[in-house]
Amino acid sequence: MSSSDLVGIRQTVNRSGIPLLVGAMLFSTGVAVVTGFWMHCRRLSGDNQVDLLCDYLWVVFWTGLAEGVALFIGIWIYRRLARRISTLQTELSDLANGVLHDLKTPITHIHNAAEEALNGQKDAAEALPAIMESCDGLAELIDANSEISRTYGAASETVAVPVDFAAVVRQCAELYADIAAEKSISFTVDLPDVPLPLYVHKAQLQHLAANLVDNAVKFTPRGGRVSVMLARAGRGIARLTVADTGIGIPRAALPRIFRRFYRVDGSRHGAGNGLGLALVQAIVECRNGRIRVESEEGRGSQFILDMPIR
Ligand code: ADP
Repeated sequence: MSSSDLVGIRQTVNRSGIPLLVGAMLFSTGVAVVTGFWMHCRRLSGDNQVDLLCDYLWVVFWTGLAEGVALFIGIWIYRRLARRISTLQTELSDLANGVLHDLKTPITHIHNAAEEALNGQKDAAEALPAIMESCDGLAELIDANSEISRTYGAASETVAVPVDFAAVVRQCAELYADIAAEKSISFTVDLPDVPLPLYVHKAQLQHLAANLVDNAVKFTPRGGRVSVMLARAGRGIARLTVADTGIGIPRAALPRIFRRFYRVDGSRHGAGNGLGLALVQAIVECRNGRIRVESEEGRGSQFILDMPIR
């Protein structure tokens, strides 16, 4: 079903079905309530036949009330569904735009490099590395997507052996300390002395830590600061905080950054494919964790990840 189908269904229901249904139900509820209540008040007449009719209408009164409540609940459910359909539509179109954009860029590079080689502007040997690089980018895109789907697919899979989150973050920090140093970024790491065992696949924990630290270093200009902190937060929670003084994220983009292929406009030119945070989100959701972000454009961002220790 395409998004235009969804729009069509919603419009048809909104324009004709719902007003008619609501009007008819409101009318019948109103008639039942008013006549039922009025006859109930007349029950004191002493006339047996009138009393019988009153009893009957008293039942109608309660039925009408119940109908009203059911109607109210129905409208509430419908409005929630309509809102959800609307969000899905936006997500679907963002996803399609993201996929198209991320496929078009490497394909254009491949085409240009091949064209230059054919026109004799470049040797084939010179053009090939660019072609290879774009092909690798495409393969990475497909792999990252499959990884996200696999993560959701294996959501209920149990992990028998705990993995020390502190050790994983330490390894990741060691890797990125060098990259940060190359950009003259001050890089601080604060880890607990004791292990923080999590029942999550090691590769998934590595993805979590690497994606957050990679983004922090990538989106922080030279001379900025990145800090990585891991600690226990309350009972049974391991909290990883990755903060930077980088470009920050516009407020309007914050609810979208965990969607597949979403990248803030200014970030589209740099390395990346907009799938890193979607994978982080998939892992966090499937392992009963929580992630939130605080960010101010031009001042920096802070990602706070909570994972249950058991
Ligand atoms: P990408 O491959 O582009 O890094 P992600 O899914 O990891 O994809 O991130 C999605 C987008 O969120 C990024 O393109 C960027 O616009 C924004 N973003 C993520 N982390 C940060 C950060 N630390 N600072 C600024 N922007 C960020």
